[in-house]
Amino acid sequence: KMEQLYLGIDFGTSGARYALIDKEGAVLSESKRAYPQLVVREIIEWGSSWKQTLFSLLEDVPIDLRSYIVSISIDGTSATTIIIDSKTGELLCRPFLYNESLPDALPFVSSIAPKNHTVCSGSSTLCKLVSWWNSYGSNKNSALLMHQADWLLWLLHGKLGVTDYNNALKVGYDLEADSYPNWLLSQPFSVLLPSVKAPGTPIGCLKEDIRLQFGFSKNCVVCTGTTDSIAAFLAARVTQPGKAVTSLGSTLAIKLLSTSSVEDARYGVYSHRFDDKWLVGGASNTGGSVLKQIFTDRQLELLSKEINPLVASSLDYYPLPSKGERFPVADPDMLPRLNPRPQSDAEYLHGLFESIARIEAKGYRLLKEVGATEVEEVFTAGGGAKNEQWRKIRERLLGLPVRLALQTEASYGVALLALKGAGQKI
Ligand code: ADP
Repeated sequence: KMEQLYLGIDFGTSGARYALIDKEGAVLSESKRAYPQLVVREIIEWGSSWKQTLFSLLEDVPIDLRSYIVSISIDGTSATTIIIDSKTGELLCRPFLYNESLPDALPFVSSIAPKNHTVCSGSSTLCKLVSWWNSYGSNKNSALLMHQADWLLWLLHGKLGVTDYNNALKVGYDLEADSYPNWLLSQPFSVLLPSVKAPGTPIGCLKEDIRLQFGFSKNCVVCTGTTDSIAAFLAARVTQPGKAVTSLGSTLAIKLLSTSSVEDARYGVYSHRFDDKWLVGGASNTGGSVLKQIFTDRQLELLSKEINPLVASSLDYYPLPSKGERFPVADPDMLPRLNPRPQSDAEYLHGLFESIARIEAKGYRLLKEVGATEVEEVFTAGGGAKNEQWRKIRERLLGLPVRLALQTEASYGVALLALKGAGQKI
């Protein structure tokens, strides 16, 4: 008899992928898709692009395995925000992307939220919600706020108004009280807020048309999701305080398991609930996407071989793909510093790798300063993690062991979440 299988789908910053696992956590099938660039009147139609990608990935799942899938979950980029009309299901404006800053809403959000709260950053979900509320007049009565993962999951189960507490953090959900705070509920736009469940909670079965179209089982449930960086953390299966995961993909996100919860919006530091512990972290705009602007993946591989990771570079940059940083310094006006560029590309890359590693080290130092458990060991995930020279540079600059996580994909982590969800009742 064939086993039960669990499907996790990750919507990352540069593309989406799925992992299909069995109950032991062995991967049976995986696939990856880039987001199609659907441009209408010079604007990328992200909603259509994500939707198309979701269904392409479902088509990629081998037909003979589909009927064994009993649970599905999805993660999306944190603070990627969608506002839909609950009557028609249509998007009421274009999606706000994770790294987009809406500074116009910040003075108001800062005036209602506690000092240095996570929402007091121009890129928070709450700033996106407030900015929409203030600039769009119509459909306010039937509008509903969704995170990217909620929206994609909704396409599968069709039940409106549910999210998970990882995605809800940046809209202001209070994880310790397990409720929205009164300063938020007293606002007129609070009617848009979804109800909040633990990540990996079954919400409903697959919609009949989708189930029939793809040949999924009647028993297949769809569970609440999480954010991409939490999913990457889940993949590493870290359980001890002091252990951390750096996700080095398009951006650099750090997550540290801590016995205490800390929060400081000035530095983009926040804590997620993680069973009886806290997952403390932040996300910088530095990372692979700025490298991608300069070098191809092939060049990165070849040039890295010329780098001696044990030797310090004298070059000091602040690599950002565009203006604005979130963590370890929250500054929407920070400009990239990518000069001077030396003659040698390998030397340049060496300097870029060290500069990004310095930002990572500064991030971990900052977490300790604001009261988190001190980091002892770093596991690493994402496209930049597999680079051995960079890993050694990071060990030197962090002064800690940096290990490649056995499983590094967020898609694997969210598949584990689907597995967890399969054990729960609807
Ligand atoms: P995402 O966060 O978008 O899912 P990935 O985890 O797939 O991204 O990582 C993609 C990034 O990894 C790219 O921006 C690329 O610059 C970087 N990258 C790819 N290959 C290497 C390499 N050999 N060394 C360092 N970085 C790399």
